[in-house]
Amino acid sequence: MKIAVIGTGYVGLVQGVMLAEFGMNVTCMDVDNQKIELLCQGNSPIYEPGLQELLQKNINSGSLKFTTDIKMTVEEANVIFIAVGTPPEADGSADLKYVLSVANSIGEYINEYKVVVNKSTVPVGTGVLVRDTISAKLAQRSKQIDFDIVSNPEFLREGRAVQDCLNPDRIVLGTTSTKAMAIMTKIYHALQVKQVPFVLTNIETAEMIKYASNAFLAVKISYINEISALAEKVGANTIDIARAMGLDSRIAPEFLQAGPGYGGSCFPKDTQAIVDIAKKNDSRLLIIESAIAANIRQKQRLVEKIIQVMGCVENKKIAVLGLSFKPDTDDMRDAPSLYIIPELINQGVKIQAYCPAGMKEAKWRLDKYTDKIVYCKNEYEAATNCDAMIILTEWAQFSYLDLKKIKTNMIGNYLFDYRNMFFDDSSVRSIFKYVAVGVV
Ligand code: NAD
Repeated sequence: MKIAVIGTGYVGLVQGVMLAEFGMNVTCMDVDNQKIELLCQGNSPIYEPGLQELLQKNINSGSLKFTTDIKMTVEEANVIFIAVGTPPEADGSADLKYVLSVANSIGEYINEYKVVVNKSTVPVGTGVLVRDTISAKLAQRSKQIDFDIVSNPEFLREGRAVQDCLNPDRIVLGTTSTKAMAIMTKIYHALQVKQVPFVLTNIETAEMIKYASNAFLAVKISYINEISALAEKVGANTIDIARAMGLDSRIAPEFLQAGPGYGGSCFPKDTQAIVDIAKKNDSRLLIIESAIAANIRQKQRLVEKIIQVMGCVENKKIAVLGLSFKPDTDDMRDAPSLYIIPELINQGVKIQAYCPAGMKEAKWRLDKYTDKIVYCKNEYEAATNCDAMIILTEWAQFSYLDLKKIKTNMIGNYLFDYRNMFFDDSSVRSIFKYVAVGVV
């Protein structure tokens, strides 16, 4: 079976590598020449643990190749995965121009029966739109070629993308074609053998499952963040609250850590998109709308907390550790740091930043503030001559910091631990004026 993956971002690249690892013949295509050049040389353009090794291995074995040639990619493949971005429009709706551009190309070059699989996160109805786009192009070419559409949403977590793809919690496949369903279950046979549950359904349900899942997780995060704000007021401890809640098997402990709000390339855009889908269908999703508002409030609240604790922050120097939206990724899309750092700079603060993988991305995303941010080699350099330090992302390496050395490098002694990494460290309060989230 020849597989094509169109779009080699976080989802497409990992999917392509995984399918090659499962023994398939995979071609990954992208319009980004630089990305494809890097990949042809065996270098991953993104940071994702374990990816580089698997990439190299499957290129060397000849089962994985990269190209910018869409015609060849479409013509040669039996199954085409669409894994391009679906960024938010200004009104929150998902921008489908990349998906529909790929559908157009498929219609232009399709030469025999193919299964077209949508992996991008898309609003309900996009499967039909992709089918109509391909059919319209075929009609222009006066050709009648059979094809099927499948919705196969992706649930990987950045930072664990390879592991998640190799060991997913479930595979969701939406299609009404038994032929396409049989081909898809064959592709994922290696996961069936591992007893991964499969949810076989129609396209619309598969499309909804993805948004419903992401919105639920965003609600869970906003929920504990709202609880954390109240806990601070009443003298309760959110870490214990979350632990006790999570021990209830109906609740589960994941996504119950208070922090600076959710970010990343999925939750902010997918919550907005599902709210938009509801409005277009004369519905409201009041819980999700509130989760979005609570997420904005949490970020504001944590900035206010810094100002409240330190008093005036004008002309203060603050170290920020962790810029990416979560650990083990270089992804900065909608990271809380992109809100919190500009807010502090607007108050007259100078920033010294360090992130193990996010700095390259941060530099261009925060280029408006270049003269107010110094990017540092490590945590200790970032701390040098600072009045305060903020931890925004819980990179594992931060938990091994020599706190005394950090403090020695600083001129002030405030530590805003917005991931509660050091809450249980008995020495932290003797070294710093220590502020965590949702605890007093
Ligand atoms: P990304 O921005 O990292 O990658 C998208 C890639 O598509 C880019 O390399 C871009 O150059 C390429 N592209 C755009 N138009 C193209 C075209 N016409 N032909 C070929 N390539 C084209 O995006 P991503 O994070 O991989 O997300 C892709 C989709 O998967 C989105 O819908 C996203 O919501 C969804 N998703 C993302 C994650 C995640 O954690 N990143 C998880 C699950 C689902």
